[in-house]
Amino acid sequence: MQNNKEWQAAYSVIEQLENVGFEAVVVGGAVRDAILGRPAHDVDVATIAMPEEVKSVFNNTVDVGIQHGTVLVIVPAGPVEVTTYRTDGEYTDHRRPEEVQFVRSLKEDLKRRDFTMNAIAMRRDGSFVDFYGGCQDIEAGLIRAVGDAQKRFSEDALRMLRAVRFSAQLGFVIESETLKAMKDKADTISWIAKERIKAELDKLWIGKDVFNGIQKLEESGLGAHLNGNFQANHWSEFNAQDKLLGWAYFALLQGEHWREVLGSYRLSNKEMAFVKAVLAALEALKNGWTNMDYFSHTQQELEAACYFAELRQLNVQMPQQSIEEIQTKLPIKHKQELIVNGSDLLKWSGKKGGPWVKEALQAMLEAVVNDELENGRQEIKDWIEHDYFTKE
Ligand code: ATP
Ligand code: MG
Repeated sequence: MQNNKEWQAAYSVIEQLENVGFEAVVVGGAVRDAILGRPAHDVDVATIAMPEEVKSVFNNTVDVGIQHGTVLVIVPAGPVEVTTYRTDGEYTDHRRPEEVQFVRSLKEDLKRRDFTMNAIAMRRDGSFVDFYGGCQDIEAGLIRAVGDAQKRFSEDALRMLRAVRFSAQLGFVIESETLKAMKDKADTISWIAKERIKAELDKLWIGKDVFNGIQKLEESGLGAHLNGNFQANHWSEFNAQDKLLGWAYFALLQGEHWREVLGSYRLSNKEMAFVKAVLAALEALKNGWTNMDYFSHTQQELEAACYFAELRQLNVQMPQQSIEEIQTKLPIKHKQELIVNGSDLLKWSGKKGGPWVKEALQAMLEAVVNDELENGRQEIKDWIEHDYFTKE
């Protein structure tokens, strides 16, 4: 696990800092995930060196968050975020601290971290620095706040949602004092920016135990203070481990209000378009899909709709073959494959342009996709002249 590029890069940074006398360690999620045998995405380094000192040791650095003490150091094995040991300054309105103070103590730095499992440091020799019992809690599968849970959640309400998301990601239990504090502070989640909430929900949906996470949302009362309906019983079978499928399934459970609810979490246009397409495909599935449904949706959208139909035990007409196979057999796969275009239509008809062109092209497309019309110039010309125009 620690042989991958991210770890190599982090170790190389630590070695170079140590060579000039600065203590440096790996911290946070990467240490937790290494103990759990999970692959880490970002391996973060914490150091006693001040940001300017870090910058003086390496040739290639980028100031990514210098006011919080973070410098991105680029070494041959890759980029590494290096953050000076710090404590958080005064917290106002349950959000991020106003300012941070750099400190010379690793113990202090670890103390500001949210959960014991995220407050373990690892030295280059593989030994752990674990002041808050993180290793033991990981062993027991427990999410426990560092220090007084009430106080920690008062400082930053997002931590409560992080606890929920970790419970989904890791299948861990939330320790009782920590859970109690969440119940007490649940309403303060409304102080947190929607973008930060979305980022946690994105990670929740990817979790291997989303049901556990939603149960914790319900149990803590946090769910009641978030936009939308989070009812655990609908999630017991959900296991997509996919962000978009999570949002789409969540949308399905919101009924007609889904757009407002998802909009409030600031989903991107692309994410909203995916959700909309899946819900439309699911609706169409009630009568069975036509060629046009296979044509106008991606395989992923159609598979999502089938998955949801199963989860919700809907009475629908499931495809009899694999979606991929059906899509491969369609007469055409893209609009652009239509052999005839708007200017052909204008030329043949001698009519002036107008909305009718688009309508005719659409009718033509549907006829071709549904195998009622061959995609050939003469065939389409005949069809337009004898079938389409005469219908009007
Ligand atoms: P992931 O695997 O999702 O990246 P992570 O634990 O690494 O999980 P990050 O958001 O990358 O989470 O944060 C890195 C570390 O910073 C955490 O492990 C934790 O020690 C600390 N941290 C992050 N957010 C907070 C917070 N809101 N309050 C206190 N400490 C935090
Ligand atoms: Mg991380």
